[in-house]
Amino acid sequence: MAQAEPRSVVIIGGGIVGCTTAYYLTHHPSFISSRTQVTLLEASAHGAAQGASGKAGGLVARWAYPQPLVDVSFDEHVRLAELHGGPDRWGWRYVGCGSWEGRAEAVPETPPEENGADGEADSLSGRRKSLEKTLGLEGGKPPKKKTKKATGLPSDLTWMAEDLTDAYSPMAPHGDTAQVHPYFFTTSMLAFAQEKGAEFTQGKATRIVIEDGGVTGVEYCDPSTQSEQHLLPATHVILATGAWASTLLPALPVTGTRAHSITIRPPKHHLPLAPYVLFTEITLPRDVGRGTRRRGTTHASPEIYARPGPDGEVYACGPGDDAPLPPCVDDVVVDQEACDNVWRQVRGVSRVLRAGRVHRRQACYLPTVLGSRAGPIVGDARQVARGLVVAVGHTCWGISNAPGTARAISELVMEGEIRCADLRSLQPSLFF
Ligand SMILES: Cc1cc2nc3c(=O)[nH]c(=O)nc-3n(C[C@H](O)[C@H](O)[C@H](O)COP(=O)(O)OP(=O)(O)OC[C@H]3O[C@@H](n4cnc5c(N)ncnc54)[C@H](O)[C@@H]3O)c2cc1C
Repeated sequence: MAQAEPRSVVIIGGGIVGCTTAYYLTHHPSFISSRTQVTLLEASAHGAAQGASGKAGGLVARWAYPQPLVDVSFDEHVRLAELHGGPDRWGWRYVGCGSWEGRAEAVPETPPEENGADGEADSLSGRRKSLEKTLGLEGGKPPKKKTKKATGLPSDLTWMAEDLTDAYSPMAPHGDTAQVHPYFFTTSMLAFAQEKGAEFTQGKATRIVIEDGGVTGVEYCDPSTQSEQHLLPATHVILATGAWASTLLPALPVTGTRAHSITIRPPKHHLPLAPYVLFTEITLPRDVGRGTRRRGTTHASPEIYARPGPDGEVYACGPGDDAPLPPCVDDVVVDQEACDNVWRQVRGVSRVLRAGRVHRRQACYLPTVLGSRAGPIVGDARQVARGLVVAVGHTCWGISNAPGTARAISELVMEGEIRCADLRSLQPSLFF
């Protein structure tokens, strides 16, 4: 019997979706026998995971959405962590996750921190948007109010001020919520794929080449010269460009919402911090301000994540805004004031974190799906071209849902159909 033609798969985008897809393709049982070649093309001059996939919180949840993808993804996260030493390599662990409601106290300003700023200051733009993680829970309910003596605050959650807590309630049973450090997870997936032969190419894709109804390659420009065009021949093209999806395929209803985050290093004598991720609802005193005004008071809802590791890093992110998507991930502008606001809010509710220092101030674009149908958009886009596969629009759950997405896409490319889950509700033809 004649051997099938070798496949040349080009993945566009080195975020968690692209890198994890490279991992699953190169670890597929028929990867070697099928003589498949995998190339990952990433626009950033700084390597993989420079966008949302390196700057997200890293929550992994059984209560995320959409369910068919969650069912595969959570178990795959567990398997990958066991197989590759996830706790040491990317900070995999189970966490307590709860909604915390309370008041911030006004705290005097501290001098500028140890500062890993990732960009230049600019003015804070526009409306604030929720990142919508709690939509997966029934109605995203607020915590039940309790008496002051019985706020429900777990006894080991000592890094939040008890006297400023009004109510705490767990959001999911133990074992249903975990975390990863998204940068280390993503770059580990890429490294494992490279060990099996995947190529990493730095360059910005400018066109998916389609001939006779099928993909034949990807044109890209080298970031060092900008002008020079190169061609990567391809039998399959996987579009995994996150918020930038519509720049190559304008029909895709995907855009981006900018969100800021900071990382804080608490004083060493407070470490280790108990492993919790908190969805907060903070009432701010006037001078902590800059939240959303509601019924005469000002509120803010930063998410706060304790992370493992020797520095005991804590991550906190604020709401989204309307800043337009820049041409490249390396051009994302960090608004220092938006980062300052998150820091003021966190300092107002945690005396432990207040004694620490801000290590990083950063911004990234959450991929969002426009229209009434919820994303992500995952599957065969043969209505555009044979061999074109789409894996974009992962909204606030791309870290959690990347392994299920990647496994499904690897099955589609290597076996001709998705077997691990019923993802018909996410198929591209329903979106464009
Ligand atoms: C503040 C914040 C917190 C979050 N927290 C969580 C969380 O706790 N848990 C969770 O599950 N999810 C979380 N998310 C969501 C998650 O980060 C995203 O869904 C996920 O990172 C999307 O991954 P991606 O690979 O699709 O996109 P990205 O990470 O944006 O990667 C896309 C890549 O494509 C590249 N690219 C774009 N265009 C081109 C081109 N033309 N040529 C070559 N390369 C190109 C970009 O440079 C980029 O590296 C959070 C998001 C934000 C903003």
